[in-house]
Amino acid sequence: MQDYDLVIIGGGLVGGSLACALGGSGLRVAVVEAATPQAPARRDAPPPAQYDERVIALSLGSRRIFEGLGVWPALADAAEPIRRVHVSDRGHFGFAHLDAADEGVEALGYVAPARAIGAAIEGCLANAAGVDVLCPARLGGLRIQRDHANLEVAVAGVSRLLRTRLVVAADGGDSDVRRRMKLGVRERAYGYDAIISTVTPTRPEPGVAFERFTSSGPLAMLPMTGGRWSVVWTTRERDTAAILGLDDTAFLAELQRRFGGRLGELTRPGRRFSYPLRLVLAQQLTRPRIALIGNAAHTLHPVAGQGFNLGLRDVAELADLLVDAHLTGRDPGGPAVLDGYRARRRGDQRSVALVTDTLARLFVNPFPPVRAARDAGMLALDLCPTARHALARRFMGLGGRLPRLARGLPAASR
Ligand SMILES: Cc1cc2nc3c(=O)[nH]c(=O)nc-3n(C[C@H](O)[C@H](O)[C@H](O)COP(=O)(O)OP(=O)(O)OC[C@H]3O[C@@H](n4cnc5c(N)ncnc54)[C@H](O)[C@@H]3O)c2cc1C
Repeated sequence: MQDYDLVIIGGGLVGGSLACALGGSGLRVAVVEAATPQAPARRDAPPPAQYDERVIALSLGSRRIFEGLGVWPALADAAEPIRRVHVSDRGHFGFAHLDAADEGVEALGYVAPARAIGAAIEGCLANAAGVDVLCPARLGGLRIQRDHANLEVAVAGVSRLLRTRLVVAADGGDSDVRRRMKLGVRERAYGYDAIISTVTPTRPEPGVAFERFTSSGPLAMLPMTGGRWSVVWTTRERDTAAILGLDDTAFLAELQRRFGGRLGELTRPGRRFSYPLRLVLAQQLTRPRIALIGNAAHTLHPVAGQGFNLGLRDVAELADLLVDAHLTGRDPGGPAVLDGYRARRRGDQRSVALVTDTLARLFVNPFPPVRAARDAGMLALDLCPTARHALARRFMGLGGRLPRLARGLPAASR
């Protein structure tokens, strides 16, 4: 039996970030991750590895958290700044824009491949004092006692027993921990998939991200390093297989038709993968000895690029509370930490989920009055600097009370 202060189930982008944050804090941490890094991808299906083919728009707030974790220097070269966001409604008059210069910042956010973020986190974990990474390892059994939890974990097929004061579920949208603990969820299947790929346009506009609302749903084009743009193309479930099956020329022609000529000709398509889109919002964030973070707590539609950013804010708050508890000799799985985590995170999670869900449904609604109202809303937003500023602050993840990591400071330093 091995003793820990906390065991994180799931070493993906969010679980790995929490482990990084707690390295050197004096807390004894284990990470249990099922997938080996860089597991090979099957064509057309998202790979099972913890860091897959997604490309992530990181908010400015997330950059600060990564600076606090010490992972930003390893990631900076792979991260392309977003200096302007252009939002439009295909075939209609509504459009809006956000500009880094208007906000007095160098960039509104950054775009980086999930694999590059994962590699930077792995580098940090390799030097994280007090953190054991168990991989490939899978949760076998979980029993909650009054002052600790017992876990049975299969590490490379060999059963090991762990005892811990807190179990953190960072095991994604289908969280096994959440299911075992019978924590209920609010769930909505949108009936849409996101097809992701990359393209290289002939007339690039460096630093400009596009969100274009089309009749089948939003189409995002995010600037990447090397002159590429990441494509996140929302399609009705019934159309997904046909689009994935197009040859490269037909795929580019269809994408160009939807996106238009703003970046010139779209060339050199990358591999394509599809992800089903859904909302999963846990109704309870904690139970005695258990806390949910990241997608295990909230799986969102990617329309506003908020899922991981929200998860990283969970990490920043929970790390703060855990380090405080450790320094003051309190129980890391006790009520002070769990109640504090719930109180600090519930509002942000609920409001981001609500905004994302509303956007995801509003912008596929073909009913003409709804369409006219949203186009008018976008124009009004574009013309009103105060509203634009408020939206930009939200996009940048800079609102509200900021924990240490969100101010770019290590969680473990006091
Ligand atoms: C198409 C698309 C585009 C997106 N774009 C953006 C964006 O631009 N910006 C943004 O902020 N977010 C974006 N997101 C959301 C973002 O990808 C997720 O919010 C984020 O990856 C969630 O990370 P996570 O670590 O919580 O969960 P996951 O990435 O799902 O990781 C969970 C980990 O737990 C492991 N695991 C699961 N069960 C077990 C078990 N029983 N035992 C051990 N290990 C287990 C898995 O192997 C996995 O590594 C996007 C999502 C999609 C689908």
